[in-house]
Amino acid sequence: MPDPLQIKSHSIESLRERFAAEGVRPFRADQIASWLYARGVEDPDAMTDLDLALRERIRNEWSLSALEVERVDHSVDGTTKAALVAADGARIESVLIPEEDRLTLCVSTQVGCAMACDFCATGFMGFQRNLTTAEIVDQVCRMREHAPEGRPISNIVFMGMGEPLLNLDAVVEAIRLLIHPKAFAMAPRRVTVSTVGLVPKIGELLAQVPVNLAVSLHAATDDVRDRLVPLNRRFPLAVLLETLRGLETVTVRRPVFFEYTLIAGVNDTPEQAERLPGLLHGIPSKLNLIPMNAHPDSPYGPPSDEVIDRFLRIVAGKGLRVTLRRSRGPDIQAACGQLALRA
Ligand code: SAH
Repeated sequence: MPDPLQIKSHSIESLRERFAAEGVRPFRADQIASWLYARGVEDPDAMTDLDLALRERIRNEWSLSALEVERVDHSVDGTTKAALVAADGARIESVLIPEEDRLTLCVSTQVGCAMACDFCATGFMGFQRNLTTAEIVDQVCRMREHAPEGRPISNIVFMGMGEPLLNLDAVVEAIRLLIHPKAFAMAPRRVTVSTVGLVPKIGELLAQVPVNLAVSLHAATDDVRDRLVPLNRRFPLAVLLETLRGLETVTVRRPVFFEYTLIAGVNDTPEQAERLPGLLHGIPSKLNLIPMNAHPDSPYGPPSDEVIDRFLRIVAGKGLRVTLRRSRGPDIQAACGQLALRA
């Protein structure tokens, strides 16, 4: 028997075409998308506006879910982390982060990561494989079943395991389903893709889907960034920031969200802070400072509150919009850079 087709890896348009070629009326694709994504129904028998023959075919030929929840952990602060297993046994993590005015889901795009950033737990796992579109989308379907008090997921951030721009095609197809009015119908500005700085793919992403861009910066000079982010040796700061300045011509201007993990004794000095505003000049920017979340694979740790405060005041004093990101879910290893699973 051939592998069943992953229905969630198909765009609604491609399902329509497939159906048309098989003599099924194309609008059936819209109905199925509405069941799967808008209503969260995955049992073909419950899709009552489809005829019995089509329900039967869907059951026999298609696979309607790509991930199973293996384990769910709840943090004292309300954050929920789940370990999800794919059909081949690969495991990933997704994190639900409730805030007063929003419920954010942090999704993974790869099993492991090839970028080997020196302070990130996922980097220490190495790279196993890309996720499929179905596996990316299914994180939303599985995790919304664990939303507190049934609240809807309002924001999606591609900030889980992996480098999204190294799995660009699957990520773009997943985003198209997230924002499709007949699928999840999310506003594009509620979706954010974070990259470590894969320069050639940034424009390609934004030309295809009008999402927010986040860039993991972590340093204001190449010597410090080389040490933390190996990719910086291929795409150094000047090249990365020049690319971001050039986006003006291809996107409607929205701020770029720069993430800066503050690591004691490494990138938390006044010199780094003083250089940042000038470095980002000409790019509408928001800087997110994230004190390093410790994990067993890394010798690094967060700076003291005084050092964090000094850093924040220097950059804010030079007019950069800056926020300090409170860590969510550190007690369940759900915070930034703590996502890693070992068999
Ligand atoms: N690969 C993409 C998507 C992952 S986003 C990227 O790098 O942008 C995950 C964010 O958490 C990144 O900004 C990453 O640098 C940050 N991070 C990684 N390890 C961390 C740690 N130990 N403490 C705090 N932030 C960390």
